[in-house]
Amino acid sequence: MHPALYLTNTLTQQKELFEPLHPPLVGLYVCGPTVYSDVHLGNCRTFISFDLIYRYLLYLGYKVRYVRNITDAGHLEGDRDEGDDKFAKKAKLEQVEPMEIVQRYTLGFREVMQAFNTLPPSIEPTATGHISEQIEMIREIINKGYAYEVNGSVYFDVEKYRQQYNYGQLTNRLLDDLMANTRELGGQDEKHGRLDFALWINAKPEHIMRWPSPWGWGFPGWHIECSAMSSKYLGETFDIHGGGMDLKATHHTNEIAQSQACNNKPPVKYWLHTNMLTVNGVRMSKSAGNGFLPGELFTGNHPLLEKGYAPMAVRFFMLQTHYSSTLDFSNEALQASEKGYGRLMSAIRTLDGLIPSDSSTADIQALFTACEKAMSDDFNSPILIANLFEAVRIINSVKDGKEKLTAGDLADMKKLMHTFVFDVLGLTFENENDDGSLAGAMNIILDIRKEAKAKKDFSTSDRIRDELAKINIRIKDEKDGVTWYKD
Ligand SMILES: [Zn+2]
Repeated sequence: MHPALYLTNTLTQQKELFEPLHPPLVGLYVCGPTVYSDVHLGNCRTFISFDLIYRYLLYLGYKVRYVRNITDAGHLEGDRDEGDDKFAKKAKLEQVEPMEIVQRYTLGFREVMQAFNTLPPSIEPTATGHISEQIEMIREIINKGYAYEVNGSVYFDVEKYRQQYNYGQLTNRLLDDLMANTRELGGQDEKHGRLDFALWINAKPEHIMRWPSPWGWGFPGWHIECSAMSSKYLGETFDIHGGGMDLKATHHTNEIAQSQACNNKPPVKYWLHTNMLTVNGVRMSKSAGNGFLPGELFTGNHPLLEKGYAPMAVRFFMLQTHYSSTLDFSNEALQASEKGYGRLMSAIRTLDGLIPSDSSTADIQALFTACEKAMSDDFNSPILIANLFEAVRIINSVKDGKEKLTAGDLADMKKLMHTFVFDVLGLTFENENDDGSLAGAMNIILDIRKEAKAKKDFSTSDRIRDELAKINIRIKDEKDGVTWYKD
């Protein structure tokens, strides 16, 4: 018997017993990436957190349908209902088809997710592949009286909705509070109320990505895709909806309103939100200049990074903090995690060579129960990791002859480590050829090249560059240092 699972529901701000609607089935929906640029690290943390949650639900024996969408249309600049479509804008900038942008960044996103060893979702639906479902849903919301059309655009009537339902439920905020925090939005002259948001946006003829609809040519608002796709694949009410906490106030609030208005029932039983990232205590953001990309973190190619960190060390680092707490990046913390990850993996290797004794000095079953208890308490991975380090201590003591384990306990210890390190935390051994060790070697090579250049030994520095090029590693001298990439 596994311990009962408790999770913190953002909707109620309470830790609640997890009781799926249709056990053993579990529906899990997570808002996926917007594929008009490289996935940033904050998103990676969200997807790694939900990978942990997905893995633990599978471990508990649930049959999980995990849906994570790809936003490839309709997401406007600044997340508001104005300006250009992000895909069309980037496409014009780069002189390519919008779908080329979508393809490039979708592939890049999947590569990063694979590097972090996240399991692929069961379904990865795209917004452009579900235009008719979105149109149907908008039609139904209009029929129910919660949306209206103006000049080919359709808006959700928040004022009307809140006469019936609690609009600020997810953020626990009063409407006045929401109003005070709402900046002037696009389409304001068409909207009946300040908080109304677009479900469908009328597109000018020059707009590249547009579709025919009962209201003319246009494209969907951002929020509607998640409501349409989650109800299509998981039902009108499903178990868990997750995402970054930056999505709570607008995107998720509007998702609830749309689905509730359309289907007359709350769409989600449990809402889970992951917290944000900071770097040396400052919120990670593009404008603060401290927002490094996953690739930069792996190679160490960023002014704030002393070196590159292997994806598994980064994953381990992220899981050492609970998903609902702020996670602070610093070189010291990353290096400490790198060492911790190394100790954990080397203990697993040591385990294979241990010799059994007639009796045991440690209670492995109790340790197994402690690991499960940690995860069943709102997926508490930091506590799980603390228990795994107790296992590491026991393994090393047995190796040193200070403690003993029977053959049965050694087998249980192996099961414990494999279950929680590989299956639940999703860690793997870094192999010799991965980006982590390559990044380490590149740091050394580039240091030598820098010294050569400082001594004006250009034949050595050029030789390093040319020899690396022969094995498809390109280096580029830039203002703030040297960057490198594999062809
Ligand atoms: Zn969403």
